[in-house]
Amino acid sequence: MSKEIVQKDAPVLRKLAKNVPSEDITSPKIQKIIQEMKDALASQDDGVAIAAPQIGYDLRIFVVSGKTFAIMNGEDEKVVKYPDVVFINPVLSKLSRKKVWMEEGCLSVRKVYGKVRRSEKATVTAYDQTGKKITRGASGLLAQIFQHETDHLDGVLFIDKAKELEEIDINK
Ligand code: ZN
Repeated sequence: MSKEIVQKDAPVLRKLAKNVPSEDITSPKIQKIIQEMKDALASQDDGVAIAAPQIGYDLRIFVVSGKTFAIMNGEDEKVVKYPDVVFINPVLSKLSRKKVWMEEGCLSVRKVYGKVRRSEKATVTAYDQTGKKITRGASGLLAQIFQHETDHLDGVLFIDKAKELEEIDINK
């Protein structure tokens, strides 16, 4: 069983998450948390990314599912081809001035969807799971994910800034 994904009223989702000391990244404790995040993400059919507070840790870590890269390439997302990518202590930069309204949902705000105004492009600098510094530029879906996940680490949920929120039960 993977860890439960906490839902919107959980206090941990409203905290300012803490940086992981860089020398701790390769420790068994942090590596275990990263694995728990990947497992929890994999347990959700519609999940493209997850932040550590969503499984109860107030740490600045998020994981982007390999599925995201398949979706962006127009490939079958059910075929596992790309690895999950881990971002630790992420810092956003180069947010494009151009913003677009994007459809958004969240594994911690089940069944609710809305539109959020996001920069079309964004860059993230972070440590990867081996403790190496990485910088990754993105546009579209991945840029949206960078912004949504960084918000989680700052205690912000998409419903705080969304418009046209509606509840959709996709299983009906
Ligand atoms: Zn979310």
